[in-house]
Amino acid sequence: MPIISSRWCKASPEGPEIHAQAVRLQFLKGERPRLLSPYLPALEELQGKRVKQVGAQGKAFLITFEGGLTLYAHMQLYGRWMFGKPGQQHKTNRQLRLSLATADQEAGLYSATQIELLNAAGLKKHAYLSRLGPDLLDPGTKLADLIQRIQNKQFSGRRLAALLLDQTFWAGPGNYLRSEILFCAGLSPEMRPKDLDKEQQVRLARASLGLARRSLKTKGITTPAELVSEAKKGGQTRRLYRHWVFNRLGRPCWICGVPVRKEEWSGRRLYRCLECEGGGSREMNFQDVE
Ligand SMILES: [Zn+2]
Repeated sequence: MPIISSRWCKASPEGPEIHAQAVRLQFLKGERPRLLSPYLPALEELQGKRVKQVGAQGKAFLITFEGGLTLYAHMQLYGRWMFGKPGQQHKTNRQLRLSLATADQEAGLYSATQIELLNAAGLKKHAYLSRLGPDLLDPGTKLADLIQRIQNKQFSGRRLAALLLDQTFWAGPGNYLRSEILFCAGLSPEMRPKDLDKEQQVRLARASLGLARRSLKTKGITTPAELVSEAKKGGQTRRLYRHWVFNRLGRPCWICGVPVRKEEWSGRRLYRCLECEGGGSREMNFQDVE
C-alpha cells in the first residue's frame, strides 16, 4: 500500500486531510491491533482490545477500544500518519510516536507528540475537544449549525480572517480553505459576522461546507470538476488548477482575470481577488450542501 500522498499533506493538515486519513484508518475497525509506542507505556492496556470506532474531530484522531478507552492523538502542525505493511520502513526523518498493526496493515503516527488515553469522562471534558465548533467534515453538520455559529454573539465582532482559522468557531478550515471560502462566498477578510446580512451568512456557511467536503473527495482540490478538466486540457498542472485563489499570486482570477493578490491576515498568508469581492458569490455550486 502506498504511503499517503506526501504532496497533499506537506503543509499543516487541514480538516479534509485529517478526515481522509481517518478514512484510511478504518481498516482498524473490528480488529485487535498490536500497539507500539516507545513513549507511552500506558498504552499497554489496549493490547488485545478490539477497535470499536475510528474518527476525527478537528485536528485530533479518536480511536475507541472495547472497554470504553479512547486513544486521542492531536496532529499539531507536523503530525503525519503513514500506512504500509506491518514492519515496513518508511523513508522519513520523523520520529515514530505510535503504531497500530493488524495482520496485513500498519498505520504509524509520526511527529505528533500529543497522544493521550481517555475514558468517557475524560473525553467529555477534554480541553481541546470540548471547545471545538461544529466540524465541517462531520456528515452530521448542517448549514443551520454554521449559521447559528455566525449569529452567536461570542463571535460577532471578530474578523472573518481570524474566525476562519479558529477551530472553536467551526472546525476544519486551515489556511488554504480560509482564502478559498472567502473567495467563493464573495466576502472580505475584514468583515465580521455582525456585518453580514442573511444572504451573506448563508453564502459563508455554504461555501465552508461545500469546499471542505469537496476537498475531502478530491484530495485537496477546491476548484470544481469542470474548471479542472478545462485547465487540464489547456496543459495546466495541478498546482495551477488546484485552488480558486490560494497560492495563485499574480495569476489571473479564474472569474474576472484580474491578478490574484497575496496579503497577510492573522499572521498567515491570504489570497484574494478584490475585483470579485462584494460582487456576490463566486461559486454556489454546492447544491448537495444543506
Ligand atoms: Zn476575480
